[in-house]
Amino acid sequence: MRRTDTLIIGGGPAGAAAAIGLAHAGRAPLIVERRALPGGIVCGGFLGWDAIASLRRLGVDRVALGAAPITRLRLIAGGRSTETWLPAEAGGLSRARLDDAMLALAERTGAIVLRGVTVRRVTGTRADLGNGEAIEASRLIVATGKHAVRGAERGAPGGSIGLRTTIAAPPDLAGTIELHLFRGGYAGLLVQEDGQANLCVSVRPGRLREAGGQPAALMADLAREAPAIAELGMAATAWDAIAAIPYGWRARTTAPLTYRVGDQAAVIASLAGDGIAIALASGRAAADAILSGDPAEAHIARFAGRAAGPLRHAEIIRRIAESPAAAAATIRVIDRLPWLARQAARLTRIGH
Ligand SMILES: Cc1cc2nc3c(=O)[nH]c(=O)nc-3n(C[C@H](O)[C@H](O)[C@H](O)COP(=O)(O)OP(=O)(O)OC[C@H]3O[C@@H](n4cnc5c(N)ncnc54)[C@H](O)[C@@H]3O)c2cc1C
Repeated sequence: MRRTDTLIIGGGPAGAAAAIGLAHAGRAPLIVERRALPGGIVCGGFLGWDAIASLRRLGVDRVALGAAPITRLRLIAGGRSTETWLPAEAGGLSRARLDDAMLALAERTGAIVLRGVTVRRVTGTRADLGNGEAIEASRLIVATGKHAVRGAERGAPGGSIGLRTTIAAPPDLAGTIELHLFRGGYAGLLVQEDGQANLCVSVRPGRLREAGGQPAALMADLAREAPAIAELGMAATAWDAIAAIPYGWRARTTAPLTYRVGDQAAVIASLAGDGIAIALASGRAAADAILSGDPAEAHIARFAGRAAGPLRHAEIIRRIAESPAAAAATIRVIDRLPWLARQAARLTRIGH
């Protein structure tokens, strides 16, 4: 059986950030990532300013990655729209590009990365892999995003559904993140590094069920409520999907020697665009905790406190966004008081 000091399960932004933090301190971990190639993650590709700052500290430069600059927010609901500046410059970047760069940096810093290998089950600090091998670690970092690992489930409730596709970018999208609000959900649209647009939808299960469970039928259903996004979405040929997203949930406890990071620690409503920042912050915090000998249980309780405010504010904003009457009223208010949108965006940030 292979033995290692720290085993990180999952090589998304949270797992990679933890790995880089540990490796920088000479405690290079082992990462097991089930994807052989990056991509296929349901994410809007919005890199907030705090995520950009965290990446810079880790040694990942958003300009070098080619992230498309985003400075404006356009809100669209019920035939109305309003536009305002973001509090700071953000970026549009595909997760394939981000995850690849972060794992490459983790490797350069000294971490060992096993790609295309799945952890099937965890027992204590032992991990059984899909290839029949087993790893015994001194501690685990569970960084599997929204996916459960048998034996180390996060115990979160079910929730929304996420859908993502890539489409040709509309001409007036450059520099702007668009949020299209509709009954039971919302869609985010931005230009990413390759000039294509990333279209990401979050929807309550009931709303997708009304459309027979099919993303294409959901887009057709939205033709009257959200015509611009419906037209773009109907042109999409393939969608990535993820179910049971527990927005607003955070881990308050964990098993001994089992650190949790990213969506395994806290799941912020996706319209806040802060999930990647939380993943990076939690990865770094877990590495710091391990380096200073902080037990996993104490660490997760502290991180839950840090995430509480941003999660609570994002949930309030999500409820408004998913209710047509409240969303339309909000757009009218923001039209007159655009600084309110910037203030709301600040309240959902975890910081870096
Ligand atoms: C619809 C939607 C839109 C979003 N848009 C944005 C946005 O625009 N901006 C933003 O900041 N956040 C956004 N988020 C949130 C963001 O995507 C997540 O918070 C972030 O990806 C969490 O990072 P992570 O590293 O915890 O998990 P992930 O990014 O999900 O990475 C987990 C990794 O673990 C691997 N893995 C899983 N199970 C196993 C296993 N058993 N063995 C080995 N490997 C495994 C996976 O392959 C994956 O690489 C969005 C979320 C949703 C649902």
